[in-house]
Amino acid sequence: MLTTIIYRSHLCDNVPFKALEGMVAAANLTNQRASVTGILLFNGTHFFQLLEGPEENVNAIYARICQDRRHYNVVEILYDYAPARRFGKAGMELIDLREHEREAVLQTVLDKGTTRYQLTYNDRALQFFRTFVEAKEKQNYYEIPPADSWEFIADGQAVNLPADYTPIAADCSFAFQPIIDPLAQEITSLEALIRTPTGDLPAHYFAHLPDGELYAADLRSKKVAFAMAHALGLQDNVLSVNLLPMTLVQIPGAVRYLLDEIEANGLVPEQIVVEFTENEVISRVDEFKGAVKELKAAGISVTIDHFGAGFAGLFLLTQFQPDRIKINRELIKDVHKSGPRQAIVHAIIQCCASLEIQISAVGVEKPEEWMWLESAGIALFQGNLFAPPCLNGIPAVAWPEKKTPL
Ligand code: C2E
Ligand code: MN
Ligand code: MN
Repeated sequence: MLTTIIYRSHLCDNVPFKALEGMVAAANLTNQRASVTGILLFNGTHFFQLLEGPEENVNAIYARICQDRRHYNVVEILYDYAPARRFGKAGMELIDLREHEREAVLQTVLDKGTTRYQLTYNDRALQFFRTFVEAKEKQNYYEIPPADSWEFIADGQAVNLPADYTPIAADCSFAFQPIIDPLAQEITSLEALIRTPTGDLPAHYFAHLPDGELYAADLRSKKVAFAMAHALGLQDNVLSVNLLPMTLVQIPGAVRYLLDEIEANGLVPEQIVVEFTENEVISRVDEFKGAVKELKAAGISVTIDHFGAGFAGLFLLTQFQPDRIKINRELIKDVHKSGPRQAIVHAIIQCCASLEIQISAVGVEKPEEWMWLESAGIALFQGNLFAPPCLNGIPAVAWPEKKTPL
């Protein structure tokens, strides 16, 4: 299958431009042997390259390019298929933008085109060339430093339940995970994640409930979450709990129950956030909107969880606007390497900025993911990079500290 990859990257500061000549010559041979076309643009700082050829070969060459230590921040911006080659000649060609007029560069690229129609009719690949040559997206090229330029230092502030804590008779327990502002070194809230009494994950807990008990159990479990949060010394911090949207719709008096348990545990509604998963909300929006009304009227905030994971995330915001959204790991994972993920996250950020909806990113595991998201304007994070969930307790947080260069 004929495949095209386009990526961009940043030349390492310690690599002299002259070294590129040798690199291009070597790549020319490799590409010829693999029947791959490479068109490389360089603007003095960034590379932009199109690779076109048989899928396996293109993938293999791209995998090697990603490992190359002479450049960094490699971002894949297009992965596509085509009926015929855009550029016939296998090999590798470098166009140094500093030596050409903008218009001339695009014409040069067009001149290399071999199929009659491919490059003329709004071809995405050609549009990417144009955007790069005109530097239209440059403000979105975040130059994140290497992962090891940060150290993550645990603060030793873990909290466990006091020895005299008597658990409420319950079939569930909770793990707590902080949502933090890493640069301000501040915990902004704690999320209570349901567990079985022995610490098994939510899917396990829900799978073992008697038939028809799902929503009632989901609601009752919140009593345990509030009691534990109180015993852990939550005080005036914010506590997030998860609920199935239908729990509020199906169980009569559900919001009243929550309010009573919040009060019974010395908490106030204003410090409670309820998180609903996006795709569960979308299927019954109208009923759900009624439940949200009740929560909001009582002072409880609403978050849409797993935002962007479903099929209609942005559309959902036309139906009602939550106080916060959480972008899920599916979009966060390797965001620093993926043009499409970056574009979607940018769109979510822009949309939420216009609507004054606060955003957090969940499931952050890598320093690069965090750095990219900070650069894009997200300030709140939850993830194993900083603190994994802690059963029956609040974990220590590993705060990022910039390493001082030796
Ligand atoms: P969620 O609300 O998105 O919760 C965050 C999930 O991401 C948690 O999984 C957490 O352990 C996981 N996570 C956090 N940081 C990382 C990371 O760096 N990497 C990875 N791979 N995962 C990370 P968990 O605890 O298994 O919960 C899964 C889901 O179960 C939750 O997703 C939530 O939707 C649901 N859930 C949890 N507690 C309750 C509850 O009381 N009621 C209801 N209805 N659903 C709940
Ligand atoms: Mn959640
Ligand atoms: Mn999740």
